[in-house]
Amino acid sequence: MQLEHTYLSLSDKFYSEQKPITTTRPNIIYFNNKLADELGISQSEEELLSMLAGNDITDGMRPFAQAYAGHQFGHFTMLGDGRAIMLGELVSPEGKRYDIQLKGSGRTPYSRGGDGRATLYSMLREYLISEAMHHLGIPTSRSLAVVTTGDNVRRQVPHDGAVLTRVASSHIRVGTFEFAARFTGIPGLRELLHYTVKRHDPDLADLPEGEKAAKLLKRVCERQAELVTHWMRVGFIHGVMNTDNTGLAGETFDYGPCAFMNEYDLKTVFSSIDSFGRYSFGNQPRIMQWNMAVFASALMPLMSENTETAKEIAEGIVDDFANVFTKKWEQMLVSKIGFTVAESSTNQLAEELLDWMSEHNADYINTFRILSTDKIPENSVYDSDSFKNWKTKWFSELEKRNISKKDAFSRMKSVNPAFIPRNHIVENALESAANDKNLDPLNILLKKLQNPYPKECSLDELQEVPKNFDETYQTFCGT
Ligand code: AMP
Ligand code: MG
Repeated sequence: MQLEHTYLSLSDKFYSEQKPITTTRPNIIYFNNKLADELGISQSEEELLSMLAGNDITDGMRPFAQAYAGHQFGHFTMLGDGRAIMLGELVSPEGKRYDIQLKGSGRTPYSRGGDGRATLYSMLREYLISEAMHHLGIPTSRSLAVVTTGDNVRRQVPHDGAVLTRVASSHIRVGTFEFAARFTGIPGLRELLHYTVKRHDPDLADLPEGEKAAKLLKRVCERQAELVTHWMRVGFIHGVMNTDNTGLAGETFDYGPCAFMNEYDLKTVFSSIDSFGRYSFGNQPRIMQWNMAVFASALMPLMSENTETAKEIAEGIVDDFANVFTKKWEQMLVSKIGFTVAESSTNQLAEELLDWMSEHNADYINTFRILSTDKIPENSVYDSDSFKNWKTKWFSELEKRNISKKDAFSRMKSVNPAFIPRNHIVENALESAANDKNLDPLNILLKKLQNPYPKECSLDELQEVPKNFDETYQTFCGT
């Protein structure tokens, strides 16, 4: 694999060269052949095993850990790759540059008290959810492989250790800019800005610095508003939207305590550490705007020498995030009920449906799929006057716009998944893989999630969530 290291052209404050720890008995559990093809990787999984386990660091490879900071639950902290090591960048046959990173490959200078390791369970979880997100059409980091190390990882009890190979457009995050603003002074911040723009927004490269910084902020706000809209479309809860987990490329990454909402409720939280619901389903747009404000303050010194002017520019862009998001949200929401144009009557109709779902604890995913079949499941919450009345109103709105049911239903099936990684199915599959060494349930799930938007899907095929499952379900930060 021919890897490049453009990141190492930044000043050395931004990284520490660090080799992965060698593993004694590496064994490949998953290898993503499709992704390998897309990346133009020609070696087989056997040929790559040693590298994917972190054992084969050849000449010319310069592995390193990235330095970054971040606001975790609102508090600034110095962080950095504590259990991830970048092998380098791979340029795909289409000319796109990707980071190739090992996660769980040992300690780095940024490990603080941690062991730099990862459990098989959590790396399989990342593999599964990131691949599911990709097939749902949501920008995300990808997973190339999961390798068990043969070594135990100690948590409360011993677990099998594993290394995930993560592929992402980059790992530059809001926290990388916070690090630069705090610890490298203007020259470092400037270097990082120019590097980031060259990598993600090369069309801005020739702009004067102030304009470049402002336009980058605007672009990242756009990408993040788009990303959160996707999350809201499929009921995804990231769970730990700290600024160090907010990437500038606009990809979902760092799959720790993430989960999917079943019953529609804006307050849904599954993460064991999120006691106040900061990162609840419905709070995600607001939190992303908060993260963008943190990004803006890091960039401000480059926007203008005049602090007041810089503040005005930055505030204007961050304030506009709310409008940008609302437009995307409304467009997405009306498409979920078959309309092409978001206007006050379609928006209101969609909002009424959400209110109905919230009042009747209806399943977010299944409700939209049921609507696109024009059938009412017997003895269900849908078999009610309130739901049928809403449907009548909906059909008359479609008719007013000359949208046939057939067109509406087919549009709806392309944005409303029938299958998502339902928490109870995910847990069952992961437990059986990590505890019982039985990969069958995980393989079945991975296969199913490759086609989340089937054109045909009967009501019986929809995923049923066990009663009261959500009430006790908890997710944990993926260590
Ligand atoms: P995360 O919650 O995965 O975004 O991680 C937050 C910070 O903790 C990052 O700096 C990670 O590198 C670090 N970290 C998480 N788990 C470990 C671990 N097992 N060993 C060392 N550092 C870790
Ligand atoms: Mg992280």
